Amino acid sequence: MVQVTAHPSSEALQDTIGAIVCRQRAFFNSGQTKSLEFRLTQLKALRQAVIDYQTAVLQALKADFNKPELEAFLTEIGVTKEIDYAIKHLRRWMRPQRAAVPLEQRPAKARIYPEPLGVVLIIGPWNYPFQLMIAPLVAAIAAGNCALLKPSEVAPHTSRVVANLVQQTFAPEYIATVEGGVEVSQAVLEEKFDHIFFTGGTAIGKIVMAAAAKHLTPVTLELGGKSPCIVDADVQIEYTAKRIAWGKFLNAGQTCIAPDYLLVDRRIKSDLLQALKTAVQEFYGDDPAQSPDYARLVNSKHYTRVAHLIQDGTIVIGGETNPDERYIAPTILTDVSPDAPVMQEEIFGPVLPVLEYDTLDDAIAFVNARPKPLALYLFSRNRAIQERVLQETSSGGVCINDTIMQIAPSSLPFGGVGDSGIGSYHGKAGFDTFSHYKSVLVKPFWFDLKWRYAPYAGKLDLFKRIVG
Ligand code: NAD
Repeated sequence: MVQVTAHPSSEALQDTIGAIVCRQRAFFNSGQTKSLEFRLTQLKALRQAVIDYQTAVLQALKADFNKPELEAFLTEIGVTKEIDYAIKHLRRWMRPQRAAVPLEQRPAKARIYPEPLGVVLIIGPWNYPFQLMIAPLVAAIAAGNCALLKPSEVAPHTSRVVANLVQQTFAPEYIATVEGGVEVSQAVLEEKFDHIFFTGGTAIGKIVMAAAAKHLTPVTLELGGKSPCIVDADVQIEYTAKRIAWGKFLNAGQTCIAPDYLLVDRRIKSDLLQALKTAVQEFYGDDPAQSPDYARLVNSKHYTRVAHLIQDGTIVIGGETNPDERYIAPTILTDVSPDAPVMQEEIFGPVLPVLEYDTLDDAIAFVNARPKPLALYLFSRNRAIQERVLQETSSGGVCINDTIMQIAPSSLPFGGVGDSGIGSYHGKAGFDTFSHYKSVLVKPFWFDLKWRYAPYAGKLDLFKRIVG
């Protein structure tokens, strides 16, 4: 068993982690992870394990931050869809692709072969602590790699379940887990990997990238940021409010692609606020603290940080807090200054600032004056407005007339741009992330042109004609 939990010294910790990576490298070098059959067998085993561990996962998520069962099922156990998609398409993804051969290179065949990278590291956050370990793992397995997982210590119950699932399902020289906090993360990052896949905050993303640079290890960084939600006047107001409230208050706002703040056409602001009030009341009742469908902040540190942000505007909905339960009611703020802390940092909690705009130019300029977000939401029936926002803003992804749902189709790559991340995954994009595309040119022996060989005298004009 290679389960790292507690260590007497940092040297012993480093030795233990080094030994796991060493064994994984030896296993990878044996070539066993490469065949289609092996990969499919492991993906099917992982799928079965997710089903078998379902109850344990739901209980762990409840213990970590009171995640409602339906939300947990949808957003965490639902990772089985990603496994099914990989199983269905893997044979085609693995096939070498034909490439064109230019005239002067013929006769020849050109092919592009996807090959696994080797031993990869996956570091996860606490907010979707199961899904965000398993979905990258699906991609790593599909691409034929060995993997070391480091779940977040901030969701300790789920971290334990991930470790148990991995230990029961895979040989440790193939897939293993190390549990722990910063000290363990730092020790893991000392080792050389063939790829590091990190999901978490921008600040730690920079630390991970710096550590990877020492070994020239490529990284995928799935980071966060402030995802804006623009609401035009031409909308169905009730559905707009419901879809925004659902996306914002799901997981008590602790979602990387939650709409962080609203930019609303001034003409419909009061109607939208009224519709949001109705939606929150319908979802969670008169007292959301009593609702079984509303999560809690993950720990006191995050609770204190988010509770502080409520002071930055006028509360139109919610505002109630309870530190003993780490409860913050679904809260909507108006009269918020763009310079206030709630508009400066990623909120990552159930607080929604509402700002208004007069022209679409103003809304687009506001978004473009800030770091590129992970998600951008636009509510509008107007095709010209949809097109303008798509053309004139940059973000990891966009969802028009809904929130969060852009993450669901495995056919859509998921990832950030600029400050919100590097690289992407889900479906084929995940397979690509954990593969190297090897270019191969194959020449026959039956034909050999002499023009490239020395002596070169008299050949330059001919060469210029061919190349030019
Ligand atoms: P975090 O960056 O604090 O932690 C992520 C991981 O990094 C954890 O496993 C943690 O143990 C490890 N870590 C912490 N300090 C470290 C250090 N000094 N060196 C090395 N590793 C260290 O993130 P979090 O608080 O767990 O998650 C919240 C953030 O993640 C938010 O910003 C959110 O937007 C982002 N997020 C992004 C996505 C996405 O898919 N893009 C998904 C979920 C969350």
